[in-house]
Amino acid sequence: MVGFGGRMVYSVGGERCVVCSVVLDQTALDRAFSTELQRAETDGIYGVPRSDLAGAGPAVVSLNGTLASLVVT
Ligand SMILES: [Zn+2]
Repeated sequence: MVGFGGRMVYSVGGERCVVCSVVLDQTALDRAFSTELQRAETDGIYGVPRSDLAGAGPAVVSLNGTLASLVVT
């Protein structure tokens, strides 16, 4: 038996794309189309082992806000 599937995304007036609509995860796509070496390089740049993140990234918004305030000052 051969199976297939799919879905259609309709955007009124082109206001939203499949990324904005969260139909596609850009990070998941990047990893899927990367080589093992590219994934290792990305993981090394990130600085935190992915196994420690449980699918989420570190919360750095407060640190970003503090840094931005210091830069403006
Ligand atoms: Zn979009």
